[in-house]
Amino acid sequence: MIGAVGFGVFSEGFGRPRVGFRIGDGVLDLSAVGRDDVFAQATLNAFMALGRPAWESVLGRVAHLAASGADVLPLEDVTVHLPFEVADYVDFYSSLEHATNLGRLFRPDAEPLLPNWRHLPVGYHGRAGTIVPSGTPIVRPCGQAKVPGEVTPSFGPSRRLDFELELGFVVGVPSRLGDPVRADAFREHVFGVVLVNDWSARDIQAWEYQPLGPFLGKSFATSMSAWVTPLALLEPFLVAPPKQDPRPLPYLRAEGNWALDLELEVELSGTVVSRTNARGLYWSMPQQLAHATVNGASIQAGDLFASGTISGPERGSEGSLIELTWNGESPIRLGDGTMRSFLEDGDEVVLRGRAGDLTLGEVRGTILPARVSYSAGNGPAR
Ligand code: MN
Repeated sequence: MIGAVGFGVFSEGFGRPRVGFRIGDGVLDLSAVGRDDVFAQATLNAFMALGRPAWESVLGRVAHLAASGADVLPLEDVTVHLPFEVADYVDFYSSLEHATNLGRLFRPDAEPLLPNWRHLPVGYHGRAGTIVPSGTPIVRPCGQAKVPGEVTPSFGPSRRLDFELELGFVVGVPSRLGDPVRADAFREHVFGVVLVNDWSARDIQAWEYQPLGPFLGKSFATSMSAWVTPLALLEPFLVAPPKQDPRPLPYLRAEGNWALDLELEVELSGTVVSRTNARGLYWSMPQQLAHATVNGASIQAGDLFASGTISGPERGSEGSLIELTWNGESPIRLGDGTMRSFLEDGDEVVLRGRAGDLTLGEVRGTILPARVSYSAGNGPAR
């Protein structure tokens, strides 16, 4: 399907939000496809919960309508909404290159990879309620941080705000509490993928993250595509995954080609600052899902699982500024001649993904100044 992007939720004027399918810069109104019970709703959750036979039959209808030149609404004439109600949100740490880089930066005197990293896909539970669709402005977070060389922490707007380029998958079909979802059941449960920007305040993160992991340095906002690309459209771009050494435990073995040959780029205020590919991720999506449920935790429609920052081995393929600028020590130059160590107020970040003629919904976000509501008298007000 030339120009296919994916399913989303849109509205016209003061009309009610409903489900559509984006093709290029047009939106196909799916109320024309029938199934008003799920397509008249303001989220994709009910459609996603129907399962694979229903997804495939709708996609067949969409492809037929697209090929027969059905009317589409211009994207610029509609309002685009959060595509699904996010149930739970998990963020992994699946890129070997990213985990190695962050280990070096955060723990310079230790082995960059912790002993568990090659045995399981490390992750944490994030904040589902602050996930926003592409285009939502991001307010610079305030928080507590300890400036290197100072004895006590201080409070104020983050001075080390960063993006993270990630690929997320979205659950449609739920599982039963107590039953793990095996890696080979991935296609029966997972509806599609989105791009994710896991905005990160590195100064807040560095001070708070031990021993329980990311918290307020991440939870202020996470941006994702407004369009969910169905897994079925990605099948032609699944390729052999990187070799894993040591061989993972049996529950983490996923047969078949599960690396996604997806070209990715990050644009920062008009300049492309990173280019990489999702196929290099060490832990695959089925392995992530199998691990997240191996304890019997159930999944439900709208659960979002993000890959973690996608970084490649070459310079310029890192998916975050902390890596691209090596902790701010080597600022990068933008097309207008200005330098960046971390994000400035007014900066716009755009994530893009492409596989063949298939485009993922872009993720766009602009940084707004902090809204300081406490006295910053004990900290570095700026
Ligand atoms: Mn992340």
